[in-house]
Amino acid sequence: MSDKTNRRLVIAGGGTAGWMAAAALARFAPPGTAITLVESEAIGTVGVGEATIPQIHLFNGALGLDEAEFLRETKGSFKLGIEFDGWLREGESYMHAFGAIGRSAGLLPFHHYWLRARKLGIAKPLIRYSLNELAARTMRMQRGRRGGTGPEVPYAYHFDAGLYAAYLRRFAEARGVTRVEGLIESVEQDGENGTITGLALDGDRRVEGDFFFDCTGFRGLLIEQALGAGFDDWTNYLPCDRAMAVPCEGGGDFTPYTRSTARKAGWQWRIPLQHRIGNGMVYSSAHLSDDEAAETLLANLDGAPQGDPRPIRFTTGKRRQHWKGNCLALGLAAGFMEPLESTSIHLVQSAISRFLSVLPQGDPDPAITDWFNDQAEFEWTRIRDFLVLHYTANRRDGQPFWDDVRNMALPETLVAKIASWKAAGLIHREHEELFTDVGWLQVFAGQGVEAEGYNPMADALTDDELRALLDGTEHALVEEVKAMPRHLDFLQQFIRPAPQG
Ligand code: FAD
Repeated sequence: MSDKTNRRLVIAGGGTAGWMAAAALARFAPPGTAITLVESEAIGTVGVGEATIPQIHLFNGALGLDEAEFLRETKGSFKLGIEFDGWLREGESYMHAFGAIGRSAGLLPFHHYWLRARKLGIAKPLIRYSLNELAARTMRMQRGRRGGTGPEVPYAYHFDAGLYAAYLRRFAEARGVTRVEGLIESVEQDGENGTITGLALDGDRRVEGDFFFDCTGFRGLLIEQALGAGFDDWTNYLPCDRAMAVPCEGGGDFTPYTRSTARKAGWQWRIPLQHRIGNGMVYSSAHLSDDEAAETLLANLDGAPQGDPRPIRFTTGKRRQHWKGNCLALGLAAGFMEPLESTSIHLVQSAISRFLSVLPQGDPDPAITDWFNDQAEFEWTRIRDFLVLHYTANRRDGQPFWDDVRNMALPETLVAKIASWKAAGLIHREHEELFTDVGWLQVFAGQGVEAEGYNPMADALTDDELRALLDGTEHALVEEVKAMPRHLDFLQQFIRPAPQG
């Protein structure tokens, strides 16, 4: 390794992952760190990935991005949750909305009162007690307490991932990151210990470095092809292996939420942006041909398609080691889970922040890389389980794909979660899992996984008190939502540049 105060960091790949890493390193690496990013326009980027979760505020906030400018630059919109259409049965829908469900009364989470009320036949669907879902379904949006008065409405964004990468590129280059256009032809390693020493580029060029970030997408040029980190294939749990993406002209509702519609052998996404709608199909090639997938996608757009559907092949799973030696894999190079809960960009950001929390200044200690990889394993497997729950609990009987996923063997960790929910309405979350109790609750309820029990403390209320709790909550939320502006109006007002002078 070179001088500890003058490290050379090299980022291979300039998709969303590469430029997120470049921006964060430009902002947080110690003075004197040289940061170089190599990318190839000829290879290009995967070019999809438009929906996020609220944790994105942490990343953008840490960089100090101006929110209105960010939304202007990325043609973004607000996102209050994800609608799952037809996932339980055709014609039924539910939402995983961000934010709380109901108001807590004493020690217990609200959902135990809701479960008791269901047994009494006086509970309404969960939506009636979710501010975010009520706002989303009525196309309303408000920034809430974060930026002003009014109730807190947790939100994320939809944005054009290509424009986000370009925006972060400008941020990073303005802070000294050097971009090299070129094709990486080979990865150079130290013969003794395999440490990566440089990247050989076309035109006999070479980029040397001390630490490398593999952001080369599915190919994992450094982490897999050079270092052989290994791959855990999760196709047995998440059998979809293809996507078909096509943007279309704006049309239909400007929804402040992502829509995921179950189809014959997979699902279709709809993501409204300022300048277009992002659409795509995720499907299992064992159950659906590419032609059928394209046909279904094109038959279900809100506006004229902008080009032909673009096919993408993938294998669900993750690298066994995300950090190996002097190389950290980020983004698609680290692994891939379908965008059902919009987690990929989040996984990039959380890996970057975990890396920054140790920021090795010499040869990374194996204790640190082991810690990093254990954390990644935990984070990825729990997200995987959450995705699997959406599939396994479907009632789309008689459709071969859906019958298969309903009957597949489940990961032990998910089996335990389903069991505790069914037995006692208990959401068995481990400490640092990404998805909250409320997220699991909505998917359990939405997918028709019934809880037999609830916490008996919910019986401390009389029936009348219980009814008053539910009705009072619903009434208060409805009033709060009525006072919110429409999503489109709010967005247009929010991104309007401040008058000069
Ligand atoms: P890429 O975009 O593939 O970038 C790879 C980079 O490496 C490119 O710059 C390329 O030029 C460079 N490169 C590769 N090989 C070489 C070489 N030999 N020499 C030089 N350069 C090279 N995420 C979300 O959070 N939300 C979503 O809604 C979402 N939807 C998705 C839908 C689909 C179908 C897919 C496939 C992904 C989705 N994602 C989503 C994931 C998201 O798109 C990616 O996580 C994100 O874009 C990061 O991609 P990347 O930068 O790792 O890879």
